[in-house]
Amino acid sequence: MDIFSHTTAGLAAGALAAGMPRGASFALKLRILIAGLLGGAFPDIDALSLWKGFDAAIGRGLGLAPGRAIYHGKLWYSHHGFFHSIAAVALFACIAALLFNTAGLIRERRGFRGKFLAVFAAFAMGGFAHLLCDCITPASVWGGIRIFFPAEVYAGGWGYVWWWNNYDLFLIISGSCIINLLFLFVPSLSLRRIVPAVLTSAAVVLIAVQIHGRQFEYSYSGNSKRYFELEKRSKEEQRRVLGEKIYGLMEKLDKSINFYF
Ligand SMILES: [Zn+2]
Repeated sequence: MDIFSHTTAGLAAGALAAGMPRGASFALKLRILIAGLLGGAFPDIDALSLWKGFDAAIGRGLGLAPGRAIYHGKLWYSHHGFFHSIAAVALFACIAALLFNTAGLIRERRGFRGKFLAVFAAFAMGGFAHLLCDCITPASVWGGIRIFFPAEVYAGGWGYVWWWNNYDLFLIISGSCIINLLFLFVPSLSLRRIVPAVLTSAAVVLIAVQIHGRQFEYSYSGNSKRYFELEKRSKEEQRRVLGEKIYGLMEKLDKSINFYF
């Protein structure tokens, strides 16, 4: 799925986690939010090999294969490899939780565990949301994502939705994100904990309903000759689901963003 949806889902997860600690300061809430956002985005760091300056700036210096070969390959650091695994999410969530709370660890050890867990949870939820969202896209050359790294098995690649242009899913994710962010300002701790958790679960169910309501199949493995046809069908499907007006607005937003959305 596209990085815009992944990052928004990560922020929604961060906002959910930021509402949980009792008496959290603004600075801590901000750290938790950023952790969620980073967790949602970080697995796609393995797409860096597609950057046209990759070979000159990084690849050749480290003696790596050409960037495009890395991206489309099945090396541990290829796209949908290690960085799209439970192990990587857990490892980087630990690193983020340590880095984000280092000052607290040195100055005051009290409360470190709670802060560590809050940042860890936000990053991990953002990361797992990313992995789940990537499972529902086509298998392509990877056959899914290497979710159980170091095992060499690739999972997902179900092809329920196209790689991007899933505006309906984005609207649900961003709606959930806005609600969770607004609830951070609710003074009642129990309301702040329960309502976003229930609504986020409802959003996940709604996403599942939308996915299973697709009239086309987008699954393919290897390189598809039907790539552009499938992309066109995905847009037709969005037009059908959202209606002309909302679809038009989303398409306008899509065109104003300088990367795949
Ligand atoms: Zn990804």
